[in-house]
Amino acid sequence: MKTIGLLGGMSWESTSVYYRMINELVKEKLGGLHSAKCLICSVDFAEIEECQRAGEWEKAADILAREAQKLQQAGAECLVICTNTMHKVADHIQEAISIPLLHIGDTTAEKIRARGVNRVGLLGTKYTLEQDFYKERLRRYGLEVIIPRPDDIETVNRIIYEELCLGKVLPESKREYLRVIDDMVERGAEGIILGCTEITLLIGQEDTPLPVFDTTFLHAERAVEFALSGVDAASQKGMKIF
Ligand code: GLU
Repeated sequence: MKTIGLLGGMSWESTSVYYRMINELVKEKLGGLHSAKCLICSVDFAEIEECQRAGEWEKAADILAREAQKLQQAGAECLVICTNTMHKVADHIQEAISIPLLHIGDTTAEKIRARGVNRVGLLGTKYTLEQDFYKERLRRYGLEVIIPRPDDIETVNRIIYEELCLGKVLPESKREYLRVIDDMVERGAEGIILGCTEITLLIGQEDTPLPVFDTTFLHAERAVEFALSGVDAASQKGMKIF
């Protein structure tokens, strides 16, 4: 089994979900007492969020690139950046290391295509929704991306930073998200991307009949596929490699 490197802490609420999902998937695939070989480098999110607000993406990229190098030096064989938003600087981070960076946007887009969905509604931080880095990555796969209306982007963003990143999961916020999802469905969305790694705390497949693409789960699943790609098939219980 290969060692997964998790670059987390953005926020730690979602990194802990990654850790759990990755271990549950390895347990499901290998059984018994098997668990994931992984390393976690967890940053202080306040420093990163300050860079985001100030538009200092280069500074944030440098911080994350250094942490990624630490993971590689410690033995990580792939890198998983546990946030959609900070994939804005994914290329910069990849340049600082020689292990593969498993891109959350590629992983998600591949799954969406495999489900035959073409037009997707995207939920995420205002950076992910308003800027082009993430949507453009999805469009490379031929996907049409629908985002919330301007007022709704503010609401979705506020709930991420003021609630979910602090571990607050409120029923009224769930109602707001479902209203925003309905609006995107009316505008043609055939599926919904939970394009922020904390949204999985609030919304799940059970909340809507539409296919839900949970980036946290899909990314964790991709990491486990990578980690087990050298493990002989007989040791795995129905692992699907794509
Ligand atoms: N975890 C979030 C994401 O997936 C937001 C936190 C951040 O800004 O990195 O985008």
